[in-house]
Amino acid sequence: MPNIRFSALERAASHQAVEFESPQGRVTDYFGENVFNEQAMRMFMSAEAYKAVMSAIEKGTRIERSMADQVASGMKAWATSKGATHYTHWFQPLTGTTAEKHDGFFEPTSGGRAIERFEGNMLVQQEPDASSFPSGGIRNTFEARGYTAWDPTSPAFVIGSTLCIPTVFVSYTGEALDYKTPLLRALNVIDEAATDVCRYFDRNVNKVVATLGWEQEYFLVDAALFQARPDLLMTGRTLLGHAPAKGQQLEDHYFGSIPDRVMSFMRAFEYECHQLGIPVKTRHNEVAPAQYEMAPVYEEVNLAVDHNSLVMDVMERVARRHHFRVLLHEKPYAGVNGSGKHNNWSLATDTGINLLSPGKNPKGNLQFLTFFITTLKALHRHANLLRSVIASASNDHRLGANEAPPAIISAFIGSQLTEVLDELEKIEGGKLSAEQKTELKLNVVGKIPEILLDNTDRNRTSPFAFTGNKFELRAVGSSANCAGAMTVLNSIVAQQLRDFKKEVDHLIESKSLKKDEAIFTVLKDYIKTSKPIRFEGDGYSDEWAKEAEKRGLSNVKTTPRALDFLVEPQVEALFEELGVMNRVELHARHEILLEDYFKKIQIESRLLGDIAGNHIVPTALRYQRLLTENVQGMKDVLPADRFKKLAAVQIAMIEEISERVSVILTEKDAMIEARKKANKLTSSRERAIAYCEEVLPYFEKIRYEVDKLELMVDDELWPLPKYRELMFLR
Ligand code: ADP
Ligand code: MG
Repeated sequence: MPNIRFSALERAASHQAVEFESPQGRVTDYFGENVFNEQAMRMFMSAEAYKAVMSAIEKGTRIERSMADQVASGMKAWATSKGATHYTHWFQPLTGTTAEKHDGFFEPTSGGRAIERFEGNMLVQQEPDASSFPSGGIRNTFEARGYTAWDPTSPAFVIGSTLCIPTVFVSYTGEALDYKTPLLRALNVIDEAATDVCRYFDRNVNKVVATLGWEQEYFLVDAALFQARPDLLMTGRTLLGHAPAKGQQLEDHYFGSIPDRVMSFMRAFEYECHQLGIPVKTRHNEVAPAQYEMAPVYEEVNLAVDHNSLVMDVMERVARRHHFRVLLHEKPYAGVNGSGKHNNWSLATDTGINLLSPGKNPKGNLQFLTFFITTLKALHRHANLLRSVIASASNDHRLGANEAPPAIISAFIGSQLTEVLDELEKIEGGKLSAEQKTELKLNVVGKIPEILLDNTDRNRTSPFAFTGNKFELRAVGSSANCAGAMTVLNSIVAQQLRDFKKEVDHLIESKSLKKDEAIFTVLKDYIKTSKPIRFEGDGYSDEWAKEAEKRGLSNVKTTPRALDFLVEPQVEALFEELGVMNRVELHARHEILLEDYFKKIQIESRLLGDIAGNHIVPTALRYQRLLTENVQGMKDVLPADRFKKLAAVQIAMIEEISERVSVILTEKDAMIEARKKANKLTSSRERAIAYCEEVLPYFEKIRYEVDKLELMVDDELWPLPKYRELMFLR
């Protein structure tokens, strides 16, 4: 019988010999050519329709029905010129992937022919049969009605022969069933709140947009080897596998040269991204073998989120063509780094100012400090919420393990700004004397240099780091939709900005403070009260865990428990006050996330049991039989005293195999029992906790024995591609 591992290795070797054509031409020639962008809209739509769409994008105005017909007809003309025959509403349900249901443009007519049709109502709204998308109980499965609605702020695009129209996905009763709906609501609120605060400093500001630059980490693995690992195939991660002799100790992969085969994948992939208007800019190796990172130039949050979802799809598709598979899982391999998706976030005004970039003068700096300090205050107030929104079964392998970043939420701001905040804190609040004003202006606010030293980027252990002109949220998982984290971050900062404005106005009106005095007084209070969230040291250290506990910061390492934070009263109040999510929507999400958690662990657990029982144990026993036969043979030919001496090692091996096999089988049965018990629990929360605390611990025990066997058993018998084969691409 052929060994599946060896035939997979052979196929992988043949993949390495395949040559791929590189895309031709300059990026500027094809950038955005598959996007219905402003240029395409101008070309394919009437001036009137173009104006209506632009106004919807910029001011959120509604598009009239007759206008929608015009837009649809222009969009169809453009899409068919790109070879599109179908259209789909493209949306982001809470399953974590993107969804689409393709409809043809053509409609049969009575004469047995067909006409092409795409009208305003098809653009604006669609009713996918969406009963199988998770709704957390909002929409009973037998009542499948939910609909998708066009989001004009994210441009339509063509992939292959399909026109994709970005949409939101909501139930008929109006509740959000996707990631995008609450995100758009949060982005509206932060626009309003930030614009109001900006007006203390500059009356010309009319709009503030949140910006996001994500950095996507991922692993590549050869497609044939991937197919030969049921665990990778079904769960996206290896559940077994001994660490290779060489892992990432030498740190030679990071910034090393990219293998040709990988390079040609990256070129093809970037080409498609550029055609789709995704401004992918950097690519490099990451720390672990076969780990890579790509990042685009930052964009407005909604667009950046769509682009990240799209990138994850495009990556998969292009990788398959190149006989690779992409692993977006946060921890595909034990023993080497996992993958994250850093979310670089800031706020920008329509006057072109980055609000998290220090200003050119004291006034600009006070504005910068206002947004900077308000963000810290918001983080302190809602650290637990931020922790809960990044929680997932796969991200648990990063957060809370000894790896970037810890499960404790804190902010790193660097020594320069720490000094500034410390100085500010020392000055008395309230009415300021002339002297104090000078002190404030010259020595504190005036002291912030325009360009902050990049020492801020050096602390890699912080989950939320200020990096000179933006905050970088590093705790988001590589497989996550950025929308979750972005909805929370923008909501909490919006709430804090609203409160800030109220407090400042109150001081001006009732305490007759000058505007600057009032602003400063509130900021001073924020600096003081949010101090516990600031941490400049090593986030991985035990000392920090102890210190954080003293400060009252939570350190919750597992998803089911972290999700408790999502439905605390202050979170309900936050989302309700801002109109981002009502109680029903929030609790539905909680339910969906809990279900997602236990289902994932359930699948992993079943698979681990199967692989251990069907692949590993039989292989170990086969090898054991070889050893036994060998020992029998030795007994036949050797004199008794020689036999006793020479067979001892092999007999010990036979015993060790028996022992390990017996542990594997016993633990596997116990794990199944634990699953049965967990499955009886009716509350999702309790079931998730049971899977986490009663089922998951068996994984390590079983894996330990299997990985030991991997080292003992004849390499030729071992059925699964080994770590060294999976991770070292040529
Ligand atoms: P690096 O951290 O690699 O030195 P940068 O600091 O320039 O590089 O950017 C890292 C990421 O942060 C990029 O994706 C970039 O687009 C993004 N970024 C830069 N400025 C902003 C901003 N104002 N808002 C959001 N993201 C930003
Ligand atoms: Mg960075």
